[in-house]
Amino acid sequence: MQFIPSETLEIDRKARANKSFFDLDLRDPDLRICDFENVVIEFSPERAMVEAARCIHCPDPAPCMLACPTHNDIPSAMWLIETGNFSEAANLYHQTSSLPEICGRVCPQEALCQGSCVLNKQNTPVLCGALEVFAVDHKRRHQGHFIPLAPSTGKRIAIIGAGPAGLSCAEQLVQHGHEVTIFESKPTPGGLLVYGIPNFKLPKNVWAEKWAEFERSGVKFVGDTYIGKNKTINDLFAEGFDAVFIGVGSEIDAKMEDAPGTDLPGVYEATDFLIRGNVDPNLLPPSMKQPLEVGKRVVVIGGGDTASDCLRTSLRLGADEVTCLYRRTEKEMPGGKKDRALAREEGAKYRFLTQPVRFMGGDDGKLAAVECIEMQLGEPDARGRRKPVPVADSNFQVPCDTAILALGYWPDPIIGKTTPDLETHDWGLITADKKTGATSLPGVFSGGDCVTGPDLVVTAMVAGRKAAATIDEYLRTK
Ligand SMILES: Cc1cc2nc3c(=O)[nH]c(=O)nc-3n(C[C@H](O)[C@H](O)[C@H](O)COP(=O)(O)OP(=O)(O)OC[C@H]3O[C@@H](n4cnc5c(N)ncnc54)[C@H](O)[C@@H]3O)c2cc1C
Ligand code: SF4
Repeated sequence: MQFIPSETLEIDRKARANKSFFDLDLRDPDLRICDFENVVIEFSPERAMVEAARCIHCPDPAPCMLACPTHNDIPSAMWLIETGNFSEAANLYHQTSSLPEICGRVCPQEALCQGSCVLNKQNTPVLCGALEVFAVDHKRRHQGHFIPLAPSTGKRIAIIGAGPAGLSCAEQLVQHGHEVTIFESKPTPGGLLVYGIPNFKLPKNVWAEKWAEFERSGVKFVGDTYIGKNKTINDLFAEGFDAVFIGVGSEIDAKMEDAPGTDLPGVYEATDFLIRGNVDPNLLPPSMKQPLEVGKRVVVIGGGDTASDCLRTSLRLGADEVTCLYRRTEKEMPGGKKDRALAREEGAKYRFLTQPVRFMGGDDGKLAAVECIEMQLGEPDARGRRKPVPVADSNFQVPCDTAILALGYWPDPIIGKTTPDLETHDWGLITADKKTGATSLPGVFSGGDCVTGPDLVVTAMVAGRKAAATIDEYLRTK
C-alpha cells in the first residue's frame, strides 16, 4: 500500500511524461580514473526536486515498487521529495530498507526499480536510486538518523557475519528490543560493502556513517572471530545466546583448475586484488597487507560485476591497457550494463568468445602472457545460456603482466562442517527457508549469499530482515 495514494494527487501525468530527461551527472572519465573517489555527482536539493517531479504516479501497486526486492514505496517518496519533505521521504525508505543509502548506490537499478518505470518506453526512467540516496543522505546530514529502539526483552542473539544480511538482521532485532552481538572473521564490519565493492561505487565514508548508527543502537561487534575455527555455533549457545543468525556470504573465489600457471607471480584472484587495491591497509587482516604489484597490461577474466570492478580498479592503479576476456558474447554476460558502460568509458576493452587455457611466465619467472583459445556458442545449457565451445586450432597469446581471475564465488563449507545436523547443499550453501530463514536446526536461522549463492546487497538485506521477523516470533514464543 502506498503511503500517499496516487489517485489523491491532482497532477497532469501527460505533461510529466513529456518533461526533459537528464541522466546522472558523472565525473569526467579522464579525471575519475586518477582516484578512487565516487564517480556519481550526487543530486542537489533543486535537482532532486526536479527529478522527483517527473514521476507520473502510477496506480498502486506501482511497477517500481513491485520490482524493488524490498518494496520501497517509491511513488510516495517521489512526492515527498518533489514537495521538499526530504526527511519524511528518508523515513519512508527506512521503513522498508535497512540500508537505503547503500542500495540506492549499488543496486542494479536498470534491472530493478528503474528498469520497471513506465517511462522506459521513451527511455526517460525516473532515477529512483539516486533520489533514494539524496533523501537519506540529506536527512542524516541535517538531523542524523537513529535506529528506533524498543525496551529490552533480555534475549541475546548472535549474528555470524557483518555483511548486508547480518547487518539488516541486527538492525531489525534491536528495534524489537533484543540484544545483538555480531561475530565477524574480518577486523571491521561491512562484509563485501567494505571488502569487495570499490570506493568509486560505494564511498567508505558512507559505510562509516552507517556503521555509526549501528554502534549508537547498541549492536556489539566482535571482529577477527572465525566461527567454525575460533568457536562453533554450539559454543555460542553454550555462552547463553538464545538464537543464531548465519550471514557468512559466499566469498571463496572460484578457481581455474584446468589452466596451468595460475600460481605465477602476477596472477591474482579477484577478491584478493579488490581488497588490497581498494581497502585502507589499516582495515586489512595481516595476511593481506602486502601492497599489490599491478603491471601496465592487465587482463581480467570473467563477465560479472566483479570483473567490471577489477577492470576499473586496475585503471585507477595505473595500468595502461586493461582488457576483459570473456568466453561467451556480451549478450550472455551476467554483469550489469551500467558498470560495463562505465568501465568502457574509463578505457577498458572487451574481448569476447575468448577462453584462457594457460598462463605463461617470462624469463623473470613472472606472468608474461595468457594463451587463449577462440570459442563459439553451442547448444543452451541447463540454465538456457548457450554453451561456449572451443574452435579447433585457434590458440593465440595475449601479452600481459597482470591477470585477475573474476570467475565467481563458492560458499565456505566450514560452518556446515562444524555444526552437527545443520543441513547444507551444493558445496556448502546453507539450506534455509527463503521466506523465514529457518534452517534444519531449531534456533538457527540464515540468509543472504550463504543461502542463495552470490546475489545482491538488496536481496541479502531482505533475507536478513525476514529472518529477524522470524527470530523475534521464535523468541517470544520460546
Ligand atoms: C566485488 C564485488 C562487487 C559487488 N558489487 C555489487 C553491487 O554493485 N551491487 C550489489 O547489489 N551487489 C554487489 N555485489 C554482491 C553483494 O556484495 C553481495 O551479494 C552481498 O554483500 C551479500 O551479503 P551477505 O551479507 O550475504 O554476505 P557478505 O557481504 O559476503 O558478508 C558476509 C560476512 O561474513 C563474514 N564471514 C564469513 N565466514 C565467516 C565465519 N565463518 N565467521 C565469521 N564471519 C564470517 C565475512 O567476512 C563477511 O564479512 C558485489 C560482490 C562482489 C564480490
Ligand atoms: S532498494 Fe534498490 S531496487 Fe529498491 S528502490 Fe532502492 S535502488 Fe531501487
